[in-house]
Amino acid sequence: MASEFEIIRQYFTRPAPSAVLGVGDDCALIAPRPGMVLAVSTDTLNSGVHFLPDADPGKLGHKALAVNLSDIAAMGADPRWVTLALTLPEAEEKWIAAFAEGFFRLAHSFEVDLIGGDTTQGPLSITVTAIGEVPPGLALRRDGARAGDEIWMSGATGEAALALAHLRGRVALPGKALEACLARLHTPEPRIELGGRLRGFAHAAIDVSDGLLADLGHILEASGVGAEIEWEKLPRAEGLARCSDRALATECLLAGGDDYELVFTAPPPKRAEIEALGRDLGLPLTRIGVATRGGPQAIVLDAQGKIVPTPRKGYDHFA
Ligand code: ADP
Ligand code: MG
Repeated sequence: MASEFEIIRQYFTRPAPSAVLGVGDDCALIAPRPGMVLAVSTDTLNSGVHFLPDADPGKLGHKALAVNLSDIAAMGADPRWVTLALTLPEAEEKWIAAFAEGFFRLAHSFEVDLIGGDTTQGPLSITVTAIGEVPPGLALRRDGARAGDEIWMSGATGEAALALAHLRGRVALPGKALEACLARLHTPEPRIELGGRLRGFAHAAIDVSDGLLADLGHILEASGVGAEIEWEKLPRAEGLARCSDRALATECLLAGGDDYELVFTAPPPKRAEIEALGRDLGLPLTRIGVATRGGPQAIVLDAQGKIVPTPRKGYDHFA
């Protein structure tokens, strides 16, 4: 079995051209571009809580990084550096090699460098800290939404939660739908380009990790506004459309976590620009409602203007 230092050297020491000093010293050294503000975010994935103990290590490497980069995207920042704290039950090299491959493949695709971390023994747990840069005053905060803003989202929500429902035996998805849903659960795509391009004209943004209504609720609360969401406009992914349990599909759509899409608000005159941006990125951007003076909860309205009953709670580790 490899020692701690062999693991670090062999699997986690890679060139970090964006850093002054990368892995190997007491600290990494980084020099932000002049005048830039740093955006810093940490997320932990615990075995048995965030993933099953026998999860595919390559996909886990991808996801551990993706969920952090998603926070950087939701802030409108450009990701630059990450650190990785890895707690492993044992030094199983095949597992570590596959994990590192999934991790670095995603890191390379966004030119993000791993600059440090920690490697310890214990129950499997992965903590990544991501550091990005954003020009002063341009971060997409949760508290910037204004009454009258339109509410937008990228992609569609619910497929990741539906995959989880399948794995837990709550539903049996047909083959093709299952594949699509599992991909959303295991290898989410952080919306980095979108976050960066929204800088300067979206008023507020958040990534959907705990459920569409719950995460939108964080924007509403921080901004002191309400929201009216149009039920008919909510984008439905194919996996959701094919789910025969309609109550479950609705729950996943509105309250399912782990999608890592972005929800953002922008003033109505930006509509055409946002539509053009969606076309440019090849990523559907859908206008799902408006921010109102009420609040701070979102109400969902059907085509007749009647309130659609909604599951309200998102995921809470201690609830
Ligand atoms: P220290 O004893 O000072 O905490 P370590 O021996 O834990 O240092 O780590 C040695 C070097 O390897 C440090 O630069 C640290 O940031 C880096 N490192 C440790 N584990 C990882 C990891 N999983 N990924 C990336 N870098 C790591
Ligand atoms: Mg250490």
